[in-house]
Amino acid sequence: MSRKPIIAGNWKMHNNCAQTIELIEGLKQELKDIDKNLLPEVVIAPVFTSLYVADEELKKCGCNKISLAAQNCYYEPKGAFTGEIAIDMLKDFNLKYIIIGHSERRQYFNETDEMINKKAKAILENGILPIVCCGETLEQRERGITDSHIQSQITKAFDGISAEDTAKSVIAYEPIWAIGTGKTCDSIEANRVIKMIRETIKSLKGDMAANSIRILYGGSVKPETIDEQMAQSDIDGALVGGASLKADSFAKIVKGAMAKAGV
Ligand code: PEP
Repeated sequence: MSRKPIIAGNWKMHNNCAQTIELIEGLKQELKDIDKNLLPEVVIAPVFTSLYVADEELKKCGCNKISLAAQNCYYEPKGAFTGEIAIDMLKDFNLKYIIIGHSERRQYFNETDEMINKKAKAILENGILPIVCCGETLEQRERGITDSHIQSQITKAFDGISAEDTAKSVIAYEPIWAIGTGKTCDSIEANRVIKMIRETIKSLKGDMAANSIRILYGGSVKPETIDEQMAQSDIDGALVGGASLKADSFAKIVKGAMAKAGV
């Protein structure tokens, strides 16, 4: 079955409002002559404080080629949670996706699988779609526990979520040792792990969810790597960090996914 690819840019803690507008303007320019139906889904995830201007900038000239994502959220609807942002608040900005469980959140902010599961459920209840990140450390890979670790992350993240909601969700497989290091995971190996994730979804939620869910690869994706990554059977796109911060390199990655997009 055909799955619409997604190329999502995770801007991390970069770009104030003015820089956000500039980058979106550059991206719109790069994509302006391409028919939307030929593009993959293009998603950008600016910092919270730039979501308003990003949304306004995307609405200008009716740009419907780029969707917005947030990089995180909290699962409680409101209350005494200083510094957190509720999903209902993020709904002010026409978000399609919220990234959860990024390894930087797990590593530096102690996010647990249980929290990620609560976030995934709350996001889906609010009519937004989670991009659930998973991936192994170098130490886990060297110990040979990559698959069991990721199976556990996925099982916990999707606990109590229906097959229908799972089908609409997105997973990003991001080997931690490949994030921001310039070392990409070999495409055949990334595809093997992504197939294993799809099998895990199949055993948990059935065929429909496994065949529909889009599973992205993330970890030092660059314009030079995207063709080979997109040529793999189960890689449905990319979550891109560093290379999404420049309009021309991100646009090249978007264009690299077009061969699979026009289906
Ligand atoms: C990421 O932040 O999810 C990521 C994959 O970063 P980079 O592309 O810079 O490795």
